[in-house]
Amino acid sequence: MILSDAVDKGRMANAYLFSGADGLGKKFIAVQLAKTLNCQSPRDGSPCEECESCRKVNSGSHPDVLVISPKGKERIINVAMIGEMLQRVSRKSYEGRYKIIIFDDAHRMRESASSKLLKTLEEPPPRTVMILVTSRPDKMLPTIVSRCQTVNFYLLPDKEIEDFLVRSKKIPFEEARVIASFAGGRVSESLKLLSDETVRRRNSYLNYIQSAIKGDLAGLFNIVSGIDAEFKELLDRNMEDIKREKETEGYENAKEIKELIEAEAFSSVQYEKEEMLLIWQVWFRDMLLIKECGTAVDIMNKDSKEMLAHLSAERGFDEILNCIKAVEHARDMIRFNINFQLVMEEFFIEVVKNIGRKGVLT
Ligand SMILES: [Zn+2]
Repeated sequence: MILSDAVDKGRMANAYLFSGADGLGKKFIAVQLAKTLNCQSPRDGSPCEECESCRKVNSGSHPDVLVISPKGKERIINVAMIGEMLQRVSRKSYEGRYKIIIFDDAHRMRESASSKLLKTLEEPPPRTVMILVTSRPDKMLPTIVSRCQTVNFYLLPDKEIEDFLVRSKKIPFEEARVIASFAGGRVSESLKLLSDETVRRRNSYLNYIQSAIKGDLAGLFNIVSGIDAEFKELLDRNMEDIKREKETEGYENAKEIKELIEAEAFSSVQYEKEEMLLIWQVWFRDMLLIKECGTAVDIMNKDSKEMLAHLSAERGFDEILNCIKAVEHARDMIRFNINFQLVMEEFFIEVVKNIGRKGVLT
């Protein structure tokens, strides 16, 4: 790695260009680098995340770390923003060892801003590292690009995302493998998946299916009413959240926009229902993959491999396929606003009929 080497040896370039498609974690790495350079006790080229300096960067209040993002309707970095940055840089370093300026979407810079930045790059201020983050280096002044050391970002192999999650985020190995396989090579996606809430929900959604398959008819109806209650609660919670949001945005009388709040909350719950179905669909698809190709095949739900292998060995191809069709059917019904509890009942009966414990439904 160009970067960790430079950090270790204390030989940072004055300017870097982090280039690559969106979602590859360019900005994340830029911020990590800013933290590491100012961290009071970095470990193996990573920030400790605990010292005062790390905490300040995380809360956006570190005086020596500045992130410049495009502003306004046009989403532009203008010359005034560069001027302000130069003022910050000319001040004495407040507490850190390096000043780090991160330009997010650096290609969205007005020409005047670009030429001002170029002058700065030609005579770089001491102990200052500028990081230009962009998905479109082709839209930038070539003279700026040539002044920067380019670091290219690519889609990462699952293994690297796994290592990153285990090393930097202290995620247990098994969990990291699952997240990595869902992240599709994108670090930012893996970070999104990492939020406890997402992982917790995935586990609870898979639990429904797994208990239905193992259980009996009475259990099945319990599961369905549990899911129904969970989504009703979610709807209530969302309504409260959106209401609060609207009130802080200055809607004094929230009653007037009751319909709007309801519609927003409803559509976010719909979205969540579809997310649940997607998780189920992928789980059945993994089962089908194992049925077709054996256990050596690469599946998404790596943590349920044993159970999937067991189920796929006992069930036929068509039965598993019927479950996938049932997911698709349920999704259509939900989009048509058919009563959710009925849709879930029908769905679970179909699943249990096909791959459930023998004799529960005939
Ligand atoms: Zn630290």
